[in-house]
Amino acid sequence: MKNERTGCNTILLYETDAYITKFQATVLDAEEREGGKVYLELTETTFFPEGGGQAGDRGLIEGCEVTDTKKIDGRVFHILNSKEVKEKSVSFEEGQLISGEVDFALRFRRMQNHIAEHLFCGIANKRFGYDNVGFHLSDVVTFDLDGPLTADEISSIENACNKAVWENVPVSVSFPTPGEAETLPFRSKLELSEGVRLVAIEGYDLCACCAPALHSTGEIGIIKVLDWMPHRGGTRITLIAGEDAWADYRNLDSQMRELMKLFSAKRELVSDMAADYAAKTQEMHLENTELKKEITELYAESLLNQIHASAGKQTKICFFMKNADEVQVRNVINKCVKEYDGILAGFRGNDTDGYRYVCGRREGTEVSPEAISLRELAKQMKEALGGSGGGSEIMIQGSAPTTESIIRTFFN
Ligand SMILES: [Zn+2]
Repeated sequence: MKNERTGCNTILLYETDAYITKFQATVLDAEEREGGKVYLELTETTFFPEGGGQAGDRGLIEGCEVTDTKKIDGRVFHILNSKEVKEKSVSFEEGQLISGEVDFALRFRRMQNHIAEHLFCGIANKRFGYDNVGFHLSDVVTFDLDGPLTADEISSIENACNKAVWENVPVSVSFPTPGEAETLPFRSKLELSEGVRLVAIEGYDLCACCAPALHSTGEIGIIKVLDWMPHRGGTRITLIAGEDAWADYRNLDSQMRELMKLFSAKRELVSDMAADYAAKTQEMHLENTELKKEITELYAESLLNQIHASAGKQTKICFFMKNADEVQVRNVINKCVKEYDGILAGFRGNDTDGYRYVCGRREGTEVSPEAISLRELAKQMKEALGGSGGGSEIMIQGSAPTTESIIRTFFN
């Protein structure tokens, strides 16, 4: 028999008491559906079906896991895995009495977050007249208010929310008649007058809601806004409450302890130390760039001396910049090939880990018939020094997992 107010076949026990965890009910319908799922409809339930942005409850029925609860065409279905039901030799027949238990830890966390959202929106509505025009509850609560808020205003509402938590005011549920509902100033995302269920936070909010509710605001524990942004002319807010906020605080605390160790700083000075550190790092980065430039200049100068001393007798010259990066080696080659007709080969690395090389020659150089091409040199280096390499007739690069003395012998 359908419930007049909810339009459901199932009595929704959580609507009046969200703290009933265990229940017994009779099976109204049990259907095996696509995807290996059993859809179970019962005469009554403590399971909240997905709705209004909140996911469905989970738990156990006859020892089998209820993976989700959904409302489909006005009917509440508990969704189980067919495989598990068969493995546990459980069967569901119309008229059968079953026992169920909701996952109350999950339910309670969601109630903490959900009622925290009611409180925030109730206070924002009283102060600014804004309405909640979107709500989603997953690991965090995200909701949209239809007006702009500044950081200070959000912080002030957050503070008022936590005061309301410490006041531990009652949260109650009521089912006004359509006539009564018309006279009540409740918040609602929809135009409701029939079948309305109201959740009241004494002194703070009155809102139409379909989800399980706490007994009092003290159970929320704490409310923390994590993030906000302008959204379609309004404000999108993300918050966490209760156990989730506590877990977040513990996580932040352990990160803070690591930072305190890292910066050898007192708790209240960590961000100052981090700012100092960032500024020093930037300074060192600039200094490092300058030093690299100077070293590159010095290497180029020394290589040019070698080039001039060889007076064109050597067709290829190698040089080592052991601790340099690839850009430095390329810069030395680019600078020196302007004054050299042969091939310059720059190596960086060490005898233990091997070397990386870049070889180049001047673009547009007349390559004499007896001079070696760069691609050919890459092949010869691979044979003599191991590793790999390749590139163009202007520049090749690769690896040479060998020693400096073998490389020097190859080039002499
Ligand atoms: Zn609600």
